[in-house]
Parts: sequence; C-alpha cells; structure tokens
Amino acid sequence: MTETAQPEQHEFQAEVRQVLDLMVHSLYSNKEIFLRELVSNASDALDKLRFEAVSDDSLYGGDSELSIDISFDAEAKTLTIADNGIGMSRDELMENLGTIARSGTKKFLDALSGDARTDSNLIGQFGVGFYSAFIVADQVSVTSSRAGSKETWQWASDGQGAFTLESVDDETARRGTQVVLSLKDDETEFLADYRLRSLVSKYSDHIAFPIRMLKVVAAPEVDPEADADEDIVDVPAEPEWEAVNQASALWSRARQDIEDDEYKSFYKHVSNDFNDPLKWAHNRVEGNQSFTTLLYLPEKPPFDLMMGREERQGLKLYVRRVFIMDAAEQLLPTYLRFVRGVVDSDDLPLNVSREILQDNALVKKIRGSVVKRVLGMLDQISDETDTYQDFWKGFGEVLKEGVVEDFSNQEKLLKLARFASTNNSDAEPTTSLDDYLSRMSAGQDKIYYVTADSHQAALNSPHLEVFRKQGVEVLLMSDRVDEWMMGHVREYDGKPFQSVAKGDLDLSNLEDEDTKKQREEKATQAAPLLERMKKALEAQVEEVKISSRLTDSPSCIVLAENDMALHMQQLMKQAGHEMPGSKPSLEINPDHPLVERAAGVEDQEGFEAWAHLLFDQALLAEGGQLEDPAAYVKRVNQLLTESHS
Ligand code: ADP
Ligand code: MG
Repeated sequence: MTETAQPEQHEFQAEVRQVLDLMVHSLYSNKEIFLRELVSNASDALDKLRFEAVSDDSLYGGDSELSIDISFDAEAKTLTIADNGIGMSRDELMENLGTIARSGTKKFLDALSGDARTDSNLIGQFGVGFYSAFIVADQVSVTSSRAGSKETWQWASDGQGAFTLESVDDETARRGTQVVLSLKDDETEFLADYRLRSLVSKYSDHIAFPIRMLKVVAAPEVDPEADADEDIVDVPAEPEWEAVNQASALWSRARQDIEDDEYKSFYKHVSNDFNDPLKWAHNRVEGNQSFTTLLYLPEKPPFDLMMGREERQGLKLYVRRVFIMDAAEQLLPTYLRFVRGVVDSDDLPLNVSREILQDNALVKKIRGSVVKRVLGMLDQISDETDTYQDFWKGFGEVLKEGVVEDFSNQEKLLKLARFASTNNSDAEPTTSLDDYLSRMSAGQDKIYYVTADSHQAALNSPHLEVFRKQGVEVLLMSDRVDEWMMGHVREYDGKPFQSVAKGDLDLSNLEDEDTKKQREEKATQAAPLLERMKKALEAQVEEVKISSRLTDSPSCIVLAENDMALHMQQLMKQAGHEMPGSKPSLEINPDHPLVERAAGVEDQEGFEAWAHLLFDQALLAEGGQLEDPAAYVKRVNQLLTESHS
C-alpha cells in the first residue's frame, strides 16, 4: 500500500449490520453505556499490553505510563477516548471491527429481549460493545498503532453499511488506539465535563488504570476597570491531565476501605451483568503462598447458564496485579460456573500459560480455597429464606451437578439443595433435607423421593399412595438432573435415600401389626392370580407382586434399585442410546375392583387382555411409552364395550 492510496472500502458483514441496527434502536434509552464499553475496551487493551510486555518490555517503547484519556471538542462535537494499550494492526482492525462475524454476534441477536436494560447488559457478554458507539455517534473513527509496529491505521464508519480502512502516515502517532466519536446533533450532552466525569465514576471507577480528563481551568476574571493598554495577555496554559477514577486494583485494597458501591460496580465490570451482585467475599490468604480472591454470586442466572459448560468466563486471574487470563476453567469447578470475580496470586510466574495452570499445585490450592469460599457464601445466604429460594430456582440445577461431580463437597451441596415435597401445597422447591429429617416420623429410617419428568407426574405418581396414607413425606423431583444426581448419592446425615418407585419397599416399621397381617394373608390368597399374570406378561415383567405401595390405583411398575427411571430411559432412547436395563416388576393392588374383575376372568385370552391392560396403564402412569399404543387402545375399547354389554 502506498501513501497516496485511496482508503479501502469494506462492507459490514450482514450480521454486524443487524447488530448495529438493533443496538442503535433498541438501546437508545440506555445510550450512556457506550462510554462504559469504550473505556472497558481501552482497559482490556492496556491489560493486553502489560501482559505481552512481561516477555518483551521493548513493547513499551519508553511509554510505560498506561492510561485512558477522555477528551472532547465542543465546537467540532467530537468525543475522544484514547489509550496507549496494545493497539490494532490493519488486519486486527478489520477482523475486530467489522467483517468477520465474531462468535458472539449471532448469539447476541438471538438473545435480544427488546428490553433496553436487559439488552444493554448483553452487549458486554457477547463481545459487541464497540458498536454501542453508534448509539450516539453518526461517524466513528478508530486510529490505532499496534505495539511494536510503526504503522498506524485508521478505521472509519458511519455505522450504516460500510467502513473504510486506510494507512495514516503520522510520525507522532502514539502507540494504542484513539476512538473519535462525531456525536449526533442531539447527543451533545456528552460534551460536558461534569457529565463525563459522573459517567466515569458511575461505570468505570474500578478500572485499574488511570482514566484521565483535562483539568478544568477557571476562566480568568476580567477587570472591567483595567486600562486597555494594561491588558494582561493570558498565556494559554498547557492542558493538564488528571485521573478521575481511583485507578487502583480494587481487590488489592483493604476491605474496610472499600464501599459497597465500589464492590458492586466492580462486579458489573467483571461480570458484564447489569444487576447488582447477590453477595461477595473478599479474602486475602497469606502464608508460604499468598493470594487474594474477590468472588461474587450473581443474583440472576446468565442466559447461558445451562449451556455454558464448555466456554466459561468470569473469573479473572491476575499475578501481582497484572491481568493474565480468564481462568474460570482452571480455578472453578463446572458446577460453580456462575461465580464471577478475580484471583490475584503473588506466587505464580507472570509468564504462566494455560498448560502450566492445568496441573499446578498452587492453582489447585487456590481452586480449593475458591470453592470453599463460594460454598461458604451459599451457606450464609441459605439462611435468608426468600433470597435463597429465588437463588435456588435460578442456580439449583447447576449446583446439583456438583452433588455428582464434587464428591468431597457432596454433603455440603446436599445441605444446600431444596426440593418440592408432598409436605408443601405448591410446586416450589423449598424443602431442605434438614427440614425433611426434622419431620421424619418415629419409625422412619429413610429419605423417600420420587423422580418424574414433571412436577405433576411426580405428584400423581401411584407410588405415593401408601406414603400419603401413612403420612410419610416424599420429596418430589422433576428436574432433568435429578435422576442422574440421585444415582450418585447414597445418604444424607446418615440416612439412606430410597426411591419410592424402585426396589423392595419395606414400610413394615411404619405399619401396625394388623395391617401387616392382612397384607400377608392377601398375598397368600392372591398367589394363583400372581402366577397367572406373570405367565401372561412373561415378555414384559420380571415378577408380579402384591403391592404395599398402592391404595387407590390397580397397579404400578417397580424398577430394580439401580435402574434408571422410565422417563429417563425414554429420553436416553430418543437420544439414540441403547437401554439394556432389567425388566421391571408389576405390583398389583388386590383390593382394587379392576384387579378383582381380572381375577374373575376364566378364559385365557380375556385374562391376558386384562393383564396387559394393567401393565400398560402402570407404564403410562410412570412416564413410560407403550410398545404398541394401538393395541392398548383396542384392548381398552374392547373391555369398555364388554362391560356395557
Ligand atoms: P469485546 O470487548 O467483548 O471483545 P467489543 O465489540 O467491545 O467486544 O470489541 C471488539 C474487539 O475490538 C475487542 O475484542 C478488541 O480486540 C478490539 N478492540 C476494541 N477496542 C480496542 C482498543 N481500544 N484497543 C485494542 N483493541 C480494541
Ligand atoms: Mg468490549
């Protein structure tokens, strides 16, 4: 490219155009956030420079006082945000600001809700913050000089459909990036010193680099009496920059010197969350290894909480105040992926790589401490019933992953868990295991639960009948992870868990002697019926038994202790997994009129129809799927017709 070359013209990629369009229109009511975004980009650029300079300090080129400078020109209606950070090369300008759809662009479009407050919260999360400049500007130019390079390039656009790129021949160009916004005619409110300062303190006070503005010099008073000849000519003073933020790493300050508002605004910076945090913990560990952690619990789950197991962000690793990388994966277990904050180690080497982090003893120690702190915070908020209920609704499903994945903390996590229960009148998960234990009746030695694919299905499960009759509480679990989780827990506080739908149910501790005797008698009487039924259902069931579970329903399916619940087997099958599993058992209620009728059917074919009906019904009630639904319908119709003839 020669110096006389015309600026290159480029079209924005279609998705970028869409983002721009939506952003400008839907975020208008929250337009001031553009400054937060541009300052945050400048701060990232300074972080990156400092990090690269760890291994090559020639990148500073004698200019190591890093800062973000905000200035404006009221006449030209321009606002400038400049940094002496890492800068961008031509290709980087091209890639970062326009042509290539960055991975977040599409996701951002999908996630837009139409609510300006929520949406402006999203732009940081998806890496489209730069474009917010076009909410207030009708022309934006970005002049940038990459650290270590002598070239300067300028990107410019009116935010419509295209941008230009050109090489700028400027000997005096400073390393870093200068973003100049030509403000729209009705956005001149941002050309005011106090307005800008208050925005900086509102959104960016915690930025660890100085954000500077020009000192405001009071205009000299003019003495009207003064002689014209004596007029003192004002020598215009060299403008002086002053920092308008604290510019210190928040976490490195003493806890008692930090205001809650500072903690909150720092949270918004690290999390890209527009809401206040629910709680935070700021700790310094001193010893042969020293580190600081500042950890936050968000109030609301991020949109991608359930998908974000792989790409995780939000916990930043610093080494002696130098930002190293986003290291959530190394410092947090997956089930705590909603935690945000900062870890600053005194002892890790500055040039630490991801690979080194992977199995580093110090990192393990920090991670252990992070987990402990987070569980500690959760334990504290679990006492605040209303707050915790909301929290659990948002994050419970993820914490349940921890029950399985973090065995060493299983008991603590189970203590934090909340479930729906037959003790509550609604579907809300409000019962803790401690609540459950405190309500257990004298003879009860197990924690009973049922899993199903919906709360309604759990609530109406025939397996609950005897528990209702005996007044024994059952936990109702209908989250997808529940069945998986319960496959990995044995007991809580010394009490074993027991699915009411699986295995032998021994409620003899809770039964009085009479009931027990009656049941045994019935079993003897029913023996021939059971035998007959078993024959009829040989292909489907392992065994047919008299049920101690049922009071109202004629029959139910009972799975072996270690088999997966039917609704989950169904899901697995749909996902293409072979489900070997053992055959279930069928339990019947000999007192039920349908069972009595079946017992009275003499002819073999008729009896088999009844046997299949009882089995199919039980399967349906359990969330299972019939192998031959048409045959079932035919059978039901036939039996209904017969019963009327
Ligand atoms: P994000 O900051 O989340 O990545 P942005 O839209 O705010 O998304 O910025 C896009 C990219 O442009 C940044 O990732 C960065 O690579 C580049 N960029 C923006 N501003 C600057 C700057 N002041 N200095 C260097 N690079 C920048
Ligand atoms: Mg950004």
